Amino acid sequence: MIAVESNGATILLDCGRSVRDLRATFPLEPSQVDAIVITHAHRDHAGWLTEFQAQGFCGRVFVSAATAALLRVQFEDSARWRGSLRPADLEKQLVICDYKLEIETPGAAGLTLVPAGHLLGAVGTLMRCRSCSLFFTGDVGRSDSPLYPPPETMPDAELVIAESTYGDREAASYEESASRLGELVHDAISEHGRVVIPAFSLGRTQLILAALHNLRKHGNCPDVEIVVDSATARAYSRAHTEFRGELRDPGLADAWEAVHYVETESESRELAESSQPCVIIASGGMADSERSRRHLRRVIDDPRCRVVLVSYQAVGTLGRRLLNPGPTVRMDGRNYNKWASVEALSGFSGHAGRSELLRYLRPAIDCQAVIRLVHGDRASAASLARALSDAGAAGVSVPGPSDTDRLRPAARVR
Ligand SMILES: [Zn+2]
Repeated sequence: MIAVESNGATILLDCGRSVRDLRATFPLEPSQVDAIVITHAHRDHAGWLTEFQAQGFCGRVFVSAATAALLRVQFEDSARWRGSLRPADLEKQLVICDYKLEIETPGAAGLTLVPAGHLLGAVGTLMRCRSCSLFFTGDVGRSDSPLYPPPETMPDAELVIAESTYGDREAASYEESASRLGELVHDAISEHGRVVIPAFSLGRTQLILAALHNLRKHGNCPDVEIVVDSATARAYSRAHTEFRGELRDPGLADAWEAVHYVETESESRELAESSQPCVIIASGGMADSERSRRHLRRVIDDPRCRVVLVSYQAVGTLGRRLLNPGPTVRMDGRNYNKWASVEALSGFSGHAGRSELLRYLRPAIDCQAVIRLVHGDRASAASLARALSDAGAAGVSVPGPSDTDRLRPAARVR
């Protein structure tokens, strides 16, 4: 979360931190925020919008049309689970921006959204105020995603705030991971087992469906039933179909239209009870959701089955425990024999790897921008900072939580 002050107005870039963090970091109240720009709909960038509104934020929310479609799914989901929220009001606060067309925000700043290739609707944001300019990359996508086009060239800016998630390592090959996924499905199905893939419902699920679709098209995956067990994945898939023109290949929309979606809990339980061979993509990328655990409890001690992890598995999650060596795994208060094979495929990440980030940031080096690295752990950001300095960047640093940059008298970035 970044706060920009322009001519007395306060504009947040992304809203993935809590109201308590806002108060502690800046300090600001939600009611003092005039506008929020959302780079993309992942929860670590947009997940606190509803909470901000509940706590007094009533400004405008600038987004791309595709991001708005994805946020509507989240608003409805939040309203269903936490009846006190008001998705209709949030809808009124949305300001839909075209890509690459400047629009004026509070504080007389010009805002331009530049496609970032990380997720449907994802952008970097350029803000201009008088002669100052700031570009925030949001999350930077990969050049070889089968789902989204590569990120567009970043514009010149005086200050560039860049993500650094993969600042110290390359992203694993998508092609290799997709090919291995095809082999795992083939092995499980030929043994009459199941494949369980815990995956986030937004983005990762559509990517895995696209991978399976492409594998099948080339005869590299058996023609087995694919079931998506998630309350929201169907709605996210529909948004991808609605904005198919923004996909790398509009024909990919077929990948999630011929799939069976299980939305209710009772259907999900029925699916887990049956033993029909199939591929199940279950919501929850780190395997902690009830839907993922439900299927894992059924397959983990069945040697015919395969468990495929396609996201980063944080310490303390069930996904990380599944990857630990050892013959058993603790789940829901008991130990299970880990007789199903468990494999992690890291090539499905949506983040640019180190080399791609360095290529993406080349314009910032060439125009001698001040570069601030965020959204990565300390080691990753520090490693990328060194590489950028070696490549000729004028001033690179990794800011602390309350650090401020002042761009001439008119604008301040915190
Ligand atoms: Zn993201």
